[in-house]
Amino acid sequence: MEYPSPKDGGLPQNSIARFSPRRLRSELLLVVIFLAVTLGIVVFCSTALAAPVPVVRVMVDREPATLKINGFDLLVTEADTSRSLAHENRRASVNVKCSLGGRMEVSFGGAKGRMRASGPLKITSLGGFLRVGQSQYRDELYVYSFNGDCIVVNHVDLEKYVAGLLNSEMSASWSLNALTAQAIAARTYAIYQMKEAGTTRYKGFRPPFDLDSSVRDQVYEGAQMERYKALQAVQRTRGMVLSYHGEPIKAFYHSTCGGRTETPERVWGVRLPYLRSVECGYCNKSPRFNWVYSIPGGDLETKLRRAGLLRGRLAGIRIVARNRLGRASRVEVRGTENSVTVAATRIRDVVGTVNLRSTDFTVGRNPAGGARGGEFVFIGHGSGHGVGMCQYGAKAMGEQGQSYAQILKHYYPEAQITKYY
Ligand SMILES: [Zn+2]
Repeated sequence: MEYPSPKDGGLPQNSIARFSPRRLRSELLLVVIFLAVTLGIVVFCSTALAAPVPVVRVMVDREPATLKINGFDLLVTEADTSRSLAHENRRASVNVKCSLGGRMEVSFGGAKGRMRASGPLKITSLGGFLRVGQSQYRDELYVYSFNGDCIVVNHVDLEKYVAGLLNSEMSASWSLNALTAQAIAARTYAIYQMKEAGTTRYKGFRPPFDLDSSVRDQVYEGAQMERYKALQAVQRTRGMVLSYHGEPIKAFYHSTCGGRTETPERVWGVRLPYLRSVECGYCNKSPRFNWVYSIPGGDLETKLRRAGLLRGRLAGIRIVARNRLGRASRVEVRGTENSVTVAATRIRDVVGTVNLRSTDFTVGRNPAGGARGGEFVFIGHGSGHGVGMCQYGAKAMGEQGQSYAQILKHYYPEAQITKYY
């Protein structure tokens, strides 16, 4: 076949020149440069404009009178005035003394003497971590003097906080799906508490923190607990929360429900429409599915007396009401000089929540047990308050290949997974 001549409507000579390989290459290069610059601008803008990660305030320690914080390159300032008190650009320990009346003294030890501080202290380490006792923390530590105690509050990036707590609230050895479900639940719970702090929670008192680092909120033992798999669970869900009508929910969770989860109404008398009781059926392999706790009669008497529930000797303790799930709801404490009936959750707090793992228990007296005077034996099922996600249930669901979304849908059926930031 012959190519048509220009006169026949083929390509004119100059157009062939215009499409020379060299010119084509330079035009392609321009296009590539243009696309690269555009892409760069888009990436820069999306990074710069991405919603910032909130900073959460976690109460991590409370020490009577004195406190020691270790770190490299420590900077101590008065939080309210930003006045710099000390800067040690080497590995150092800062000692803080908290006295009644909110007074505080700071020293680096040795010849440098003590400095008076007014108001809370802000301590940062330009070298990385701040160590208090056996735990180390990221970002900033604030120290408050309260009633002669030093209260330590970690101001930390919420994503880092969630990454640190996963290995305490669960175990980094659990499946990635269970850890991911836990990451979303923990992030949601933290955001809810951040919004609640200083409003209804402490009845007018505004504590300088959003969350406690114990089982009262979420167990957080510091940055040394971070693990690779936990970081993965956090990174794949950055900013994701459980929400109901567009708002983050109070995403309660607990160790082991014992068969069926509870409603907050039955446990605390508070109705939250997005938390209902669901059949679990996944946690029967939990080591806490069944438990027994024995306590000598004298020890139980001491605990009840301290709580103001007993006068005289303990004549008996029995469950007088159970809820529809069979959990104890009211417990009678009979003393030789008084008799009271209280919520089972109160008895759980008084005896210790690590001893009475749930309110799903029966109690009896074993006259032959204990050192002398018999012992009381509590036999129960499950661990924790039973509301929201059952962690051992989530573990089993994850091991069976169910996704984090399926796990969360099972335990929080009314909630949606949404992006909070
Ligand atoms: Zn369960």
